[in-house]
Amino acid sequence: QHRLRSALALVTGAGSGIGRAVSVRLAGEGATVAACDLDGAAAQETVRLLGRPGSKEGPPRGNHAAFQADVSQASAARRLLEQVQACFSRPPSVVVSCAGITQDELLLHMSEDDWDKVIAVNLKGTFLVTQAAGQALVSSGCSGSIINISSIIGKVGNMGQTNYAASKAGVIGLTQTAARELGRHGIRCNSVLPGFIATPMTQKVPQKVMNKITGMIPMGHLGDPEGFCPLPNILIDVADVVAFLASEDSGYITGASVEVTGMRPTW
Ligand code: NAD
Repeated sequence: QHRLRSALALVTGAGSGIGRAVSVRLAGEGATVAACDLDGAAAQETVRLLGRPGSKEGPPRGNHAAFQADVSQASAARRLLEQVQACFSRPPSVVVSCAGITQDELLLHMSEDDWDKVIAVNLKGTFLVTQAAGQALVSSGCSGSIINISSIIGKVGNMGQTNYAASKAGVIGLTQTAARELGRHGIRCNSVLPGFIATPMTQKVPQKVMNKITGMIPMGHLGDPEGFCPLPNILIDVADVVAFLASEDSGYITGASVEVTGMRPTW
């Protein structure tokens, strides 16, 4: 049951939505969690939640820690890995990049700034964390599992999201290539492609649009099984798959991109 008892898991974007859910889920599997977010207070709040007794997954009170970092900055990503290693005296064996943003605009009106910001956080940030984690693991001779949160939008596109779709398609390619390069070091790299998940990110979408999207999902609901976990906006649908990819149950899976969508939208 506690498949990740000896794991140290670094989760970026851990202060909200999917990153927070992943942190809760991995801690529930016994992992020690290094929760990182641009919003340091939000990361600390996640760590506080990890110690909360009585949730369905029953996370043990662990030696979790919060970190503040902007993953889109190379120096900050490097410092993050150094800080985590200094704090726990080892590199993280599980690394989950959840930090991500949207800045939507139709292609014909999208500014250079809209493009650059989303690519900087979603694609470059994921690259920087994957690289720094890979370097830390290889130099200490440790194996590991790197999981990058892409999106189904990276495969099917979405109105108003050329920047986001490009960033998420990029994450799939970078993760597949990292898997090829790092496999011989015992490091697996996989991406997870969520569909529409009820988080602060999708709460920004107008209700009318969300109703239409929900109507197109064969499973009939967004990824957010209400009542399954006592924490609000906890996304066990995605977190379950991340926990599987983090664990040795997926020991021969690398370079995969796993869709968690309730079925891929065809628009
Ligand atoms: P969210 O907005 O709830 O959480 C994202 C977190 O990332 C926030 O806490 C934010 O502070 C943090 N963050 C933003 N920029 C950062 C930076 N530069 N450095 C460090 N942290 C930063 O969003 P979410 O819905 O939980 O999304 C998490 C990931 O899942 C994102 O990569 C998103 O693109 C992806 N995703 C979400 C959905 C969805 O439907 N919600 C679907 C597919 C993919």
